[in-house]
Amino acid sequence: MRPLQELVRTNIWNLTPYSCARDEFKGRAASVFLDANENPYNGPLNRYPDPLQEALKEKLAVVKNVAPGHIFLGNGSDEAIDLVYRIFCEPKEDNVVAIAPTYGMYGVCADINNVEYRAVPLNDDFTLDADRLLANTDEHTKVLWLCSPNNPTGNAFRRETIERLLNDFGGIVVVDEAYSDFCDARPFRLDLDRFPNLIVLNTFSKLWASAAIRLGMAFASEDIIGLFNRVKYPYNVNQLTQQQALKMLDDLPHVNQWRKTLLSERAHLLPAVAELPICKKIFPTDANFFLVRVTDAESIYHYLIDRGIVVRNRSRVQLCGNCLRITIGTPQENNILLGALRQYR
Ligand code: PMP
Repeated sequence: MRPLQELVRTNIWNLTPYSCARDEFKGRAASVFLDANENPYNGPLNRYPDPLQEALKEKLAVVKNVAPGHIFLGNGSDEAIDLVYRIFCEPKEDNVVAIAPTYGMYGVCADINNVEYRAVPLNDDFTLDADRLLANTDEHTKVLWLCSPNNPTGNAFRRETIERLLNDFGGIVVVDEAYSDFCDARPFRLDLDRFPNLIVLNTFSKLWASAAIRLGMAFASEDIIGLFNRVKYPYNVNQLTQQQALKMLDDLPHVNQWRKTLLSERAHLLPAVAELPICKKIFPTDANFFLVRVTDAESIYHYLIDRGIVVRNRSRVQLCGNCLRITIGTPQENNILLGALRQYR
C-alpha cells in the first residue's frame, strides 16, 4: 500500500474537524447541560446524540468481532461510499476502478464528486478477473470497488482473487459485504490486520431487517476510521437509530432465525424457478436475492406488476440482458411469486 498520506486529498489530510460541544466535555459526571444550546425540555430527544456512537460500537464490536476503533457508523452504507470519494479522490484528477455490473451507488457517488469511474466488466459467468481490473488502474487510481456477494449478480468472488487485489493494488480496496451474512465464506472484516488498505462495508438494511433506520458500517484500520470521523457530519447517526440498533443487537436469536428461514426459502425457490418454462438460466447466488435470465424480462416484469408483485428488471444492465433480480421473501410471498410465474403465458 502507498503511504496513507499520498492517498488522502491534501485538504482532508490538513482538515481541522468540527468540534462538538459534547466532544470537549467528556468523562466526568454532570447533570446540568448548558453547553450545546439545546432546549432543556422534551427529554431525552432534546439532546444531541453521541457523535461517535460509542455504546453502539461496543455492542457491535462483540457481534462483528471487530474492535470499536475499527468501526465507522453512517447514515446507511451510502454515507460511507460517499465519504470514500470525499476523503481519497481529488475531483477531475483521480479515478476509481470498479466491476460491472455492480451496485449503482459507487458510480453515482463518483459522478456527484466529479471523479472518473472506470467500470471493468466481469467475465460472462460473473467471475472476477483481477488482471483486467489492475490493467485499468494508473497512478491516479485511488480506490478499487468490489462487492461480494455482488449486486445484482448474487455471487461471491473467490477469496484468493480479492486477496491478490489487496496485495497488488497500492490504493484503497473497498469490499462491500452488504450480503455476506447470507454467504458461508469468511468475511473480510476479520482480516483488517493483514490488509491496511482494506475498507469493508456492512449494513443493517439486509439480514438485520432495518433498512428504515439507515445504519451502515465501515470496518478499516484505525487511521482510515479516523479520517471518516473527521469528515462525516458531526451527528450523522441520529438517536432513534442508535437506540433501535442497540435493541436489534440484543435480539440475535431472532436475526439468526431470519437467516435460517431465508436460506431455506432460497434453497426451495431457486430449483422451482429453474423448472419454469420462462427460465433460461439461474445464476448461482450467495445473497438474499438471485438473478434469473428469462425468455422476456420486460413482459414478465410488467405481468408481475399487474399482479402486485414487484421484482427488479435488470435487463438494461451490462451482461444482464433479459435478467430479473428477485429478492427472497417470506414463504407466502415466494409462493405467490411462483404461482404467478407458473401461470404466465
Ligand atoms: N451495498 C450494496 C451492495 C447494496 O446492494 C445496497 C442496497 N441495495 C447497499 C450497499 C445500501 O445499503 P444501505 O441501505 O446501508 O445504504
